[in-house]
Amino acid sequence: MPLPQRIAIDGPAASGKSTLAQRLAETLGYLYFDTGVLYRAVTWAALQRGDAVEDADALTDLAANLPIDVRPPSKADGRKYDVWVGKHDVTWAIRSPEVDRWVSIVAAHPGVRQALIEKQREIGRRGRVVMVGRDIGTVVMPDADLKIYLDASAEERARRRYEERRARGEHVSYERILAAVQARDRLDAQRTVAPLRAADDAVVIQTDDLDAAQVFGRVLALIEDADC
Ligand code: C5P
Repeated sequence: MPLPQRIAIDGPAASGKSTLAQRLAETLGYLYFDTGVLYRAVTWAALQRGDAVEDADALTDLAANLPIDVRPPSKADGRKYDVWVGKHDVTWAIRSPEVDRWVSIVAAHPGVRQALIEKQREIGRRGRVVMVGRDIGTVVMPDADLKIYLDASAEERARRRYEERRARGEHVSYERILAAVQARDRLDAQRTVAPLRAADDAVVIQTDDLDAAQVFGRVLALIEDADC
């Protein structure tokens, strides 16, 4: 039976999407593409330029013209890939609390989404891809061969982020992370264009009581059973 060529993985912040997608892509020899990087890069550039995050026209223009490049990792500092905006290596800068704070507002502008969706669809059309985001199964690749929606309670997701950051030596507060996760959930789920939701034909996996290996095992079993 042929393997699914285009796999969509959606879900809220810190639901385990990237970990799952990276392992799947590695196992299958597919491209891993994390679409959040595009929204984060636009947000980073807007903050650098001093654009107001509410300025739909300026942000749409920025998203349409920003030279964003995702490449194999150039440094062994824990990164899975490089993200460049023009001459700037923004791989870590796009993960800052500042970008976390504003990215969902930037991502809610319909013009920004339209500009970035074309880039994502172009990659999707090449096949052999595991694409991760919020609207991959619903909007970007509605005809994906396999759609997974990962979910977990906000408390559990905040706990995971908290552990990750502490392991990197950061001093962080669990309560603050939880508040940020909840704020991002609200914005992502309530926006009018492409809100966060599971596609009708997605397989929903609740991950509160599962570790990364168990989630991976379940999805691999689905792939082996998939009839494409
Ligand atoms: O996945 P990540 O946390 O990096 O995504 C950052 C933000 O980018 C999300 O909170 C969401 O607002 C936006 N995003 C989106 N659609 C996607 C991927 C990310 O709106 N496909």
